[in-house]
Amino acid sequence: MSLEASLSLLSLAEPSPAGSLNVKSLVFKPKTAKTATPVPVIVVALQTTNTPSGVIAKAAEVKDPRLARNELTAEFFGVPAADFSIASLGEKHKDGKVKVLLDSELKNSEEAQYVLENASAKLVLNGKQLFGFLSTFNPTAVDFAAEAAAAAAPAPAKKQSSPAPAAGGESDAKLDDAKLIGVTVDKEKDFSGWYQQILTKGEMLDYYDVSGCYIMRPASYAVWEQIQKFFDEKIKSDGVANAYFPMFVSSKVLEKEKDHVEGFAPEVAWVTRAGSSDLEEPIAIRPTSETVMYPYYAKWIRSHRDLPFKMNQWNSVVRWEFKHPQPFLRTREFLWQEGHTVHLTHEDAEGQVLRILDWYEEIYRELLAVPVVKGVKTENEKFAGGKFTTTVEGYIPTTGRGIQGATSHHLGQNFSKMFNITVENPEGSDKPKIYTHQTSWGLSTRVIGVMVMIHSDNKGLVIPPRVSQYQTVIIPVGLTSKTTKEVVDNVYSSCKDLESRLKASGIRVTSDYRDNYSPGWKFSNWELKGVPVRLEVGPKDLANKSVLAVRRDTGAKVAIKLDELDTELPKLLDAIHENLYQTAKEKFDEHRVLVHEWSDFVHQLNKKNVVVAPWCGVPECEDEIKDKSAKQDNGEDFEVDEKAPSMGAKSLCIPYSQPELKAGTKCIRCEKAAINYTMFGRSY
Ligand SMILES: [Zn+2]
Repeated sequence: MSLEASLSLLSLAEPSPAGSLNVKSLVFKPKTAKTATPVPVIVVALQTTNTPSGVIAKAAEVKDPRLARNELTAEFFGVPAADFSIASLGEKHKDGKVKVLLDSELKNSEEAQYVLENASAKLVLNGKQLFGFLSTFNPTAVDFAAEAAAAAAPAPAKKQSSPAPAAGGESDAKLDDAKLIGVTVDKEKDFSGWYQQILTKGEMLDYYDVSGCYIMRPASYAVWEQIQKFFDEKIKSDGVANAYFPMFVSSKVLEKEKDHVEGFAPEVAWVTRAGSSDLEEPIAIRPTSETVMYPYYAKWIRSHRDLPFKMNQWNSVVRWEFKHPQPFLRTREFLWQEGHTVHLTHEDAEGQVLRILDWYEEIYRELLAVPVVKGVKTENEKFAGGKFTTTVEGYIPTTGRGIQGATSHHLGQNFSKMFNITVENPEGSDKPKIYTHQTSWGLSTRVIGVMVMIHSDNKGLVIPPRVSQYQTVIIPVGLTSKTTKEVVDNVYSSCKDLESRLKASGIRVTSDYRDNYSPGWKFSNWELKGVPVRLEVGPKDLANKSVLAVRRDTGAKVAIKLDELDTELPKLLDAIHENLYQTAKEKFDEHRVLVHEWSDFVHQLNKKNVVVAPWCGVPECEDEIKDKSAKQDNGEDFEVDEKAPSMGAKSLCIPYSQPELKAGTKCIRCEKAAINYTMFGRSY
C-alpha cells in the first residue's frame, strides 16, 4: 500500500468499526553519539500493550531509547510528537533510516481492524493493509509481554554493591530480588515504570482502551469515598447543598464568558453525531460547570435574602488533553467535586474561598498524610475569568517536582455580570441592583496519585490508614501438614471471631484464608496492596493470647494482646498516619529552599528542590523565569515526559506563610523591586 493511499484514509470523524483494536505508534530516540545521526525507533503496538524501554532497547539493538520529543519528530517526520502516525513514514525513511518494531499481538489478516489515532486524525486499517505498508520498512516482530516477563523474572543474584552501568536505562532500574508477582522496577531509577506497576499490581487501577482514561478499581474508589465523606460533612455544615447538572453544554452557553472559555477551549470534547446522523449543532462535554450552572443561578437568585447561595456537585468532567496521560494526575475524564457559591459581598465570598482552602489542606494532612503549602496563584496561573485563585501545592520528592493539589477561586463579579446574577439592593428597590460575588472550588481524584507517589515504595502501595479500603488484614500462620485438625480449626475460628470483633468496633478489616497460598506469599501480596497493618494469627500467638501486628510503613512488628486489640489497633493506625505525614513533611521542608541569587536558581531546581524566591509579580518576568530555567536542549539526552528535568520552572504559588521581605530586596530575575516571596518549581 502506498503512503498516499494510507494518507487518504486519514479522516477526522471516521467511526471505529465494531471489534476494532486501538493501535499506538510511538517514536523513540536511542542514545546516540553527538556526531552521529540518530535512527529513530518506531513502535507500533496495541494500545493496551506495555512497551518498556528495556524491551525496545533489546529488540532494536539500541541504547537507552526514550520517547522522542517534538523537535526530533518534527525533524524526521515533519510533525509534532502528538501528530505522529505511521502515515508520517515515507520513502526517505526506507533503507534503515528508521527501525520499526511491531507488536506480535497484531494479527496480519483482513478480519483484524486497527484504529490508529493521533492528536488530529484517525486511520482505520485492516491487518493486511497495516502489515503491507509497514513491510517496506523491514519491521521486527516483538512479543512485548513475553519479553517484559522474561526481563522481570528473578535474575541471578547480583550484588547490591556492584557498580551501576553509566546509562540509567530501564534494565538497570530492575530490582534485584523482585519476584514476578511484585514490583520489578525501582522507584528512584524508573519512577514512571514503578508508578504504573504499583497501581496495576496493587489493584488500584487498570488501563483502558481509550487513551487517557483509566478504571478506578475498588481500592482507589474507596480512597475517594473517604474523601467524599469527610468533605461532604464539612461543606454541608457550612450550608452547601449538593445538586446535579447535565454533563452536556451548548456551545452558546459554553462560549458566553470569553476569558473563561479561552482557558479551556483546546481541551473541550464535542459530541458531533448521534447514531448515524450529524447533530445540527455540536454539543460540548463540560470541562467544568461555571457556564452550565450560572444561567440557572440568575433565574433562582432574586433577593439578597437568598444569599449566600451555595451548591456543590460530585461529578466527572472531561478535558481532552494531548499531553502524556498519567493515571490520576492527567486523565481525560476525572472525578471531582465542584462547588459554586454566590455572596452579597466580596468579603463574604473571600471568607468562603479561604474556608474551603483550609478544608482542602485538611484532606491532604489529616486523610492522605500529605503536607501542602497554601497560597495564591499568580496572574499567569490563576483560573481564567476569575479574580484570584488560592491553591494547596504539594511536592513529589522522587522527581523534585511540585504538584497542584486543589484550587479555590474568588470569581469576583465577572461571572455575575456575564450571567446577570443580581439581587435587589438591600437599601431599597430604587437603588441599583447589586451584582453578586461568586466562588468556585474543586478537588479531584488527582489527590490519589499524589498520595501514592509520595508514600509508596519498592514493595508496592503504602496507603494511609484513614483512607485505605482495608486498614488491616488478618492472616492465619504457623499451620503445617502436621498441625492437628483441632489446632487448625481453632486458628481459623479465632481469626473469624477477631474479624467480626474489629468490624464491630469500626475498623475496616479483611482476611485472607486462601489455602493455596503460603503465608509468605500472602504477606507480599498485601504489602503490594498497601494495607497499613497485617495481623498474623497462629497457634503460638493464640497460646499467648496475642497476635503479631506488622506495620506496612516501617515493617516493625509488635505483639498485641488479643483483649487490647480494639484499643491498641486504632492507636497503631494513628501512629502510622503520623509517621507517613512527618516523613513526607521533612522531605518537603528540606527541599523547599530560599534563593536570592538567579545564579543559584536553576542549580537548586536541578537538586530536586522547589524554590522560594523574591519576585516582582510581573507576568512577563514569570515567563522569562520559566524560559531561562529550562535546561538548554542539546538534542542529546531527551527524557520522557514524567522525568522532564529540562522543563522550566513556573510559579506554584505565593505562599500565605511568607519569609520577611526586607526593604530594597530585588526580584530574583529582573531589576524591579520584589513584592513578595513566590514558590517556583518544575511541576506536573
Ligand atoms: Zn521580576
